Amino acid sequence: MEHFDFVLIGGGIVGSSLYYKIALAHPEAKIVLLEKESALATHQTGRNSGVIHSGLYYKPGSLKARTCIDGYAQMLDFAQEHGVKHEVCGKVVAALGGIEEAQLETLRLRGAENGLSGIRYLSQEELQEREPYLRATKALMVPQTGIINYADAAEAMLRVGRGAVRLKTEVTGFTLEGVKTTQGEVRGKHIIACAGLQSDRIAQLDGVDAGLRIVPFRGDYYELSLRAQAKVRHLIYPVPDPNFPFLGVHFTRMVHGGVECGPNAVFSFAREGYSKTAFNASDAFAALGYLGTWRLFAKHWRYGLGEYQRAFSKAKFLEALQRLIPTLESSDLQPGRAGIRAQALRPDGSLEDDFVLHQGNRAFHVLNAPSPAATASLAVADEIVRQALT
Ligand SMILES: Cc1cc2nc3c(=O)[nH]c(=O)nc-3n(C[C@H](O)[C@H](O)[C@H](O)COP(=O)(O)OP(=O)(O)OC[C@H]3O[C@@H](n4cnc5c(N)ncnc54)[C@H](O)[C@@H]3O)c2cc1C
Repeated sequence: MEHFDFVLIGGGIVGSSLYYKIALAHPEAKIVLLEKESALATHQTGRNSGVIHSGLYYKPGSLKARTCIDGYAQMLDFAQEHGVKHEVCGKVVAALGGIEEAQLETLRLRGAENGLSGIRYLSQEELQEREPYLRATKALMVPQTGIINYADAAEAMLRVGRGAVRLKTEVTGFTLEGVKTTQGEVRGKHIIACAGLQSDRIAQLDGVDAGLRIVPFRGDYYELSLRAQAKVRHLIYPVPDPNFPFLGVHFTRMVHGGVECGPNAVFSFAREGYSKTAFNASDAFAALGYLGTWRLFAKHWRYGLGEYQRAFSKAKFLEALQRLIPTLESSDLQPGRAGIRAQALRPDGSLEDDFVLHQGNRAFHVLNAPSPAATASLAVADEIVRQALT
């Protein structure tokens, strides 16, 4: 039986970044990455907005803030060096009215504290010139923000890194010397799980109880018609609701062309089911059998209801978008894809705000890596190596 130095579970951007980093740092090591699907990056990594976040939103000093800022620079360098298409197109965060203007100022200060240079308010003339269709009483320009396709980035990392990638190989348990998989046992010295939507289940198999449960939040996108695409020149975001780790439906130019609007954030009854009515009994049972989920519902039912309405009503979705670009029409929106966020929830109903890394019994676990973990992935990989191997 083959024996590896490193066994990595999960072929999303976090597992791929780790594979690349370990291959660079330990050229002699034997590495294998195990992925249960028949292709890489089919879940969060291949279904996200493709934004290289600048680090504007995150609590200074948190793992999210530190790795986002470091990971941002590393992602741009990696993309540049390995020919992954990307663009630093900048984004505009738009406030409407006094309350949002105050929240925007808090964001600006937070961005400055996180070391972002060049963020500044646009005058109404500049706004008119840069985003003539955008309605805002105050607008913050964040020039650093970029776009990329993270599935392309993950693919490049695995190409450049050196080791074995095994698709259709689902990890189903741990053994004394490695992991059980659907293709037999794989033995290894260091086992690191980057399993996204399944991360709490892999941790459970390892006997870890970190007091967290993954709750899936689906995000639906619409695509803008060609005619309406001309109304979006940068990325355009609303001021996010400070009570949630979601950014609000926004306009994102995609690196391979087109403009997407979304994603909303709807509780999902299936972790890996992407239609609006997808249902998986064991996922639904896991979420609804958890007290934290009910506490979350009780606290935020109004927000949840709004998101559900937007999920099932194009008119409501359009309304949210028209707050930013009032001239959009229903015919400008075509249904697009959906992604599902793996968000860790605490038993008290609070959403875990930071990334969570945890040393288990047989493996090291990435327990919470929602947005901006794609941006941050190369720096998250450094942090995992630091914590897991020292
Ligand atoms: C709608 C949406 C929009 C987002 N927008 C952005 C953005 O613009 N910018 C940004 O930085 N971040 C964004 N994010 C967040 C980002 O996509 C995630 O943080 C990131 O992709 C997490 O990567 P991952 O490798 O941890 O997870 P994943 O990409 O989900 O990969 C986990 C992998 O593990 C595999 N796996 C699971 N269980 C097993 C098992 N038992 N055995 C083997 N393999 C297994 C899965 O099949 C999967 O391939 C967004 C997320 C969503 C959902």
